[in-house]
Amino acid sequence: GQANLSWVPPGRYDIHEILDYYSSQIENLGIELHLGVEADLESINKYQPDAVIFATGVKYNIPDIPGIDGSLGSEIYLAEKILEGEYPIGKNVVVVGGSATGMETAIWAAEQGAISSEIAKFIAFYELLPKEELFKRWLRGNRKVTIIDMLPKLGMSIGRTTRGFLIGQIKKLGIISILNVQIKKFEGKTLIYEHGNETKTLENIDTFIIAAGVTPNDELFNKVKQTNPPYKIFKIGDCKKPRTMMEAIHEGFRTAYNLDK
Ligand SMILES: Cc1cc2nc3c(=O)[nH]c(=O)nc-3n(C[C@H](O)[C@H](O)[C@H](O)COP(=O)(O)OP(=O)(O)OC[C@H]3O[C@@H](n4cnc5c(N)ncnc54)[C@H](O)[C@@H]3O)c2cc1C
Repeated sequence: GQANLSWVPPGRYDIHEILDYYSSQIENLGIELHLGVEADLESINKYQPDAVIFATGVKYNIPDIPGIDGSLGSEIYLAEKILEGEYPIGKNVVVVGGSATGMETAIWAAEQGAISSEIAKFIAFYELLPKEELFKRWLRGNRKVTIIDMLPKLGMSIGRTTRGFLIGQIKKLGIISILNVQIKKFEGKTLIYEHGNETKTLENIDTFIIAAGVTPNDELFNKVKQTNPPYKIFKIGDCKKPRTMMEAIHEGFRTAYNLDK
């Protein structure tokens, strides 16, 4: 699930250990794994299970704005698809949505193309670039990155410490924030929005990245529940309510621990 994405933004590599841990536990415990298969009511019933735990995560919100589907010629992708590395990003990037995923994706985009610490050390050692230039190129790539949001502040739903840390990075990386706006249309490389009573545009945008929040993906749970099945059903993690890995893992553990009780 999303754990495959959450380690991608800068400074989050430690999260990969969670994936490593669960991958090896799944193997050690001989848990049968079927990837690339979509479960539905029929396939679940075929197992004749005693209990089914739904951990189906989230659906990504796509606001109802003309052109957001790319039909007017804009290059538009979900943040999650960008972080999966499925699509390349251009030189001028606009991230729509300034909450956790939007902020982290903007930081990630700004850092793409920065020179690595190892190369920076080599350049410093042989004095191949002036110090200031080297520092700039080590800190970030050369993309222009803008975040746009309808709310008056970035990261309003994030905890205070994480928010302060992310905002500090956004400032340092020169990411532009345009807040308190209403987006009207995506048309080719142009974004049309309203700020106050004024209509404004952002031009020459190569890539739009949508990070407009998530909603629980609990349709399958509801469908199964409606059939009044002969087995126990549980809903855990983000498909109950989008939160963090801690709640998802804890609810998974607690549900499994209490299965026989
Ligand atoms: C960019 C990003 C950064 C994040 N950073 C953090 C962080 O720093 N710390 C933190 O705690 N959390 C973070 N999160 C959130 C965290 O990843 C989620 O809260 C957590 O992964 C939720 O786990 P879950 O198992 O409930 O759902 P998910 O991880 O969403 O997994 C759901 C899985 O169910 C599968 N699925 C859905 N329907 C079906 C079906 N019908 N049949 C078969 N499979 C199905 C999906 O393909 C998916 O693999 C981040 C998320 C993102 C996107």
